[in-house]
Amino acid sequence: MKLIDDMFAMFERHGDRHYGEDVTQREHMLQSAWFAQQDEAPDALVAAALLHDIGQFFDEAGAAAETRGEDAKHEEAGFSFLHTHFPPEVVQPILLHVAAKRYLCAIEPGYLETLSGASRLSLYLQGGPFSEEQAVEFARHPFAADAVRLRRYDDLGKQRDLDVPLLETYRPLLGQLIHPRSR
Ligand code: FE
Repeated sequence: MKLIDDMFAMFERHGDRHYGEDVTQREHMLQSAWFAQQDEAPDALVAAALLHDIGQFFDEAGAAAETRGEDAKHEEAGFSFLHTHFPPEVVQPILLHVAAKRYLCAIEPGYLETLSGASRLSLYLQGGPFSEEQAVEFARHPFAADAVRLRRYDDLGKQRDLDVPLLETYRPLLGQLIHPRSR
């Protein structure tokens, strides 16, 4: 399947970057997907966990923007790339995973302190914790709960030296979720 081949090639090419975390981008995506599986998340949410940071892989522009202290909006880049190929159950949580962090910072005491340094740094570029009104608004979104679940896997998937399944093991799962016209 060409789309999966292209995505996997991109992950192999750029997966060694760290983005300020203790793990590489490749380890991060594989760990996030693995935590989703441990939580018995539906396949679409496992795929979302695997692909949620794909927007980080696209170009140097995103990384450069973050170096300049701007938000590169990687969740929007990822959504734009994926949304014609995957169902809303995959792409909506991806689009919302940054908002979910801002939401959890607003509603869950102590959550912000559990974030990695890089995540805390980007939080402020992304607009900081939601206000009460913004949090209420977010919670109304039909994919808010899935986005929050994805966010938990994202936060967990930053551990050093964790043995997790390889990227190739996700090929059948992704293949089933891809829109027939993208196959
Ligand atoms: Fe992430």
